[in-house]
Amino acid sequence: MTASENNVEYTLKQIEITPTVSAAQNACKLCAPLGAALVYKGIRGAVPLLHGSQGCSTYIRRYLISHYKEPVDIACSNFGEQTAVFGGAVNLKLALENICRQYEPSLIGVATTCLSETIGDDVPMFIKQYLAGQTAASVPPIVHTSTPSYQGSHMEGFHRAVLATVATLAARQKETEAAGVNLFPGMLSPADIRHLKEMTAAFGLAAMVLPDYSQTLDGGLWESYHRIPAGGTPVDAIAHAGDAAASIELGHALAHVAETAAALLDERFGVRAVRLGFPMGIRHTDAFLQALSAVSGRPVPTVYREQRGRLLDTLVDGHKHVNNIRAAVYGEEDLVAGIVAFLTEIGIHPVVCGSGGHSRHLTGVLEDLVPASWRAEMTVLEGADFTAIETAVAKAQPDLIIGQSKGYAMSRRLSIPLVRVGFPIHDRMGGSRLLHVGYEGAMALFDRIANALIEQRQDGSEVGYTYM
Ligand code: SF4
Repeated sequence: MTASENNVEYTLKQIEITPTVSAAQNACKLCAPLGAALVYKGIRGAVPLLHGSQGCSTYIRRYLISHYKEPVDIACSNFGEQTAVFGGAVNLKLALENICRQYEPSLIGVATTCLSETIGDDVPMFIKQYLAGQTAASVPPIVHTSTPSYQGSHMEGFHRAVLATVATLAARQKETEAAGVNLFPGMLSPADIRHLKEMTAAFGLAAMVLPDYSQTLDGGLWESYHRIPAGGTPVDAIAHAGDAAASIELGHALAHVAETAAALLDERFGVRAVRLGFPMGIRHTDAFLQALSAVSGRPVPTVYREQRGRLLDTLVDGHKHVNNIRAAVYGEEDLVAGIVAFLTEIGIHPVVCGSGGHSRHLTGVLEDLVPASWRAEMTVLEGADFTAIETAVAKAQPDLIIGQSKGYAMSRRLSIPLVRVGFPIHDRMGGSRLLHVGYEGAMALFDRIANALIEQRQDGSEVGYTYM
């Protein structure tokens, strides 16, 4: 297949979707309830409840704790053999009662595991039956997200949980003029969420940020044990989401999904939906700030103009280290797209782009982001596992790999440096503090990319050098 754009002929033959295989080898995605649990961890006073077996909740706790280095309580309805045969209604009711008694939560977020989905548990009906026997004051709101992992990745679980939370709680509470903004940041780091909140506040906008795990999963040292960590989006604020002047929803691939939290608020309450890619790199940070400027009616604050200037200066200083470098990028679709958008701004050619996500939007999104003349060399893998990604990387022989820590084995086997981004990062400190967004995030990412390349050249030098 060929196409012409700006008089440049390019071929799309290398852009492919991996064929369906009977088993994934080392999946490049995580389980869907993990994404939902992450969203619930970003709601103030909430407790996530996995409806399924203990192994699922243990795996998710282990993954989240290892990355965020914080205590992560996730309740479980504890399926056994009998539950698998007769259904989980009794277990779910008992789990809800235990959580209410032990945690006194402001919200319980239920996510279903593969087993409960496979046996066909009617969880909405179970919750309805449970609530029918309670007084309104005795139980918090209960949000249910359907998250069969065989139908999606942790990203689908994440976005479905955001949508389910908004669909359950949001209303139009005030008759006064709409004000403030709903911000749906997508699956970014706690440092990213903090930075987005600072940027929004700099425009004088009151923001409902969902989820907000910037404190719950990256908090300070405790002097005494807290059953539920401080921080998170207040349930009341979510209930007022219908009063906002606009919703800003971030994610390149998510922008192509019809049913999202921002779309629902637009449809139900007329809250204007602004759907953008992750604000990574110059263009997409510009777009995010312009959106905030349009919603608030205020100009972009000086502090961000200054940060933009420092970023441009940094790129000029270091362009010789990165220009015409070839990179492989893998991970969640929105993150891959965000990273690729930035790489194209600094002269790095993305030659392999892989994701375990299978929304079928990634290829189109990347075609829009990558210059036509570069695409002939670009292989895009959707719904891929690490075996498929490593095969493509070994063939392309890029200078650099960018992705989460599960790609370390590939990087080691191929002797190609790995720059760690996203989630999970299990073999380094500071995963929760990695900043990807904004001009400052771009500067930090640029330094790490340039330094990884410099380090490899320095280590490979016969004489060694201490001055560039
Ligand atoms: S069985 Fe399903 S829900 Fe449980 S850990 Fe595995 S993928 Fe996740």
